Amino acid sequence: MQTKRQAATLRLIRPRYEQPRLKGGGKPRPHSGRPDRPETLFSAGETVRETGIYEVIHDRGHREAHEVVMLNGDSFPACDTCENRVRFRLVRTAPYIFQDEDFGEPD
Ligand SMILES: [Zn+2]
Repeated sequence: MQTKRQAATLRLIRPRYEQPRLKGGGKPRPHSGRPDRPETLFSAGETVRETGIYEVIHDRGHREAHEVVMLNGDSFPACDTCENRVRFRLVRTAPYIFQDEDFGEPD
């Protein structure tokens, strides 16, 4: 007996992103203390207000975006290539280890 497999093995890969839609939406999520902020981009020369990991976005994509750590109080530097057209996007705040009270350097 021959088992013929039907050519049904061609599978279309469909990402299933079925996001549940809340009816009567527009309500802020109760568990989130922070309001949703629009993504803020920082420019060269601006002062870093939050220590953390930033994504560096270069002008015209002369270089792929990459992540760096910026420290509070520093200013965002200009890129050697795209100069002050470079942008910085906060990915995640993360305190610098030596600004942590348990790791701070003794005076
Ligand atoms: Zn650049």
